[in-house]
Amino acid sequence: ATFKSLGLIDPLLEALDRVGYKKPTDIQLQSLPHALEGRDIIGIAATGSGKTAAFALPILQKLWEEPKGLFACVLAPTRELAYQISEQFEALGSAMGVRCAVIIGGMDMPTQQIALAKRPHIVIGTPGRLLDHLETTKGFSLRTLKFLVLDEADRLLNMEFSEAIDKILKLLPKERSTYLFSATMTTKVAKLQRASLTNPLKVEV
Ligand code: AMP
Repeated sequence: ATFKSLGLIDPLLEALDRVGYKKPTDIQLQSLPHALEGRDIIGIAATGSGKTAAFALPILQKLWEEPKGLFACVLAPTRELAYQISEQFEALGSAMGVRCAVIIGGMDMPTQQIALAKRPHIVIGTPGRLLDHLETTKGFSLRTLKFLVLDEADRLLNMEFSEAIDKILKLLPKERSTYLFSATMTTKVAKLQRASLTNPLKVEV
């Protein structure tokens, strides 16, 4: 199979060509057609599987169709991962002028407030700091959100982010698409799945 046969639009096919992804990985192959149809996805996949592009591509495709407001939020367990995710969104979404903001702990709040005021399409962050901004930064909300991604959910939950994630979930529109990726399926991940996804397709690689 090719990326084209999975239903991706030309600007994304051109970006994939530029970054040198020749064919979809297993997780991309199995999840992309369903994600593009609007299905929630739970992906059991480790780092290195191509899971980042598996969630970035459908989000960018919908963003191309309807570039309105703060579009997607990605919750990640570490700052390094948050930056890697942002880099992939920017590489794959450069033709559509995608704007990302990385919101992680240990960095200056005012600088992040300026980044949020620039109206990013995609906010990628660690749950604790993102919640801080939702509670204190004027004008910042996730009410227009179309996509939520919970990346490396097992690590998110091992790092005591459960409480922040629960609070963030309460501030999101119910009508949205949600993608949850985890290297392992644990009791805690299953609980988060039930709280955040609707009739998801489960893909395991
Ligand atoms: P990830 O599992 O998202 O951390 O991705 C692992 C690595 O694979 C990253 O360096 C990606 O840039 C790369 N990658 C993702 N999808 C593909 C693909 N279809 N073909 C080649 N490389 C890919």
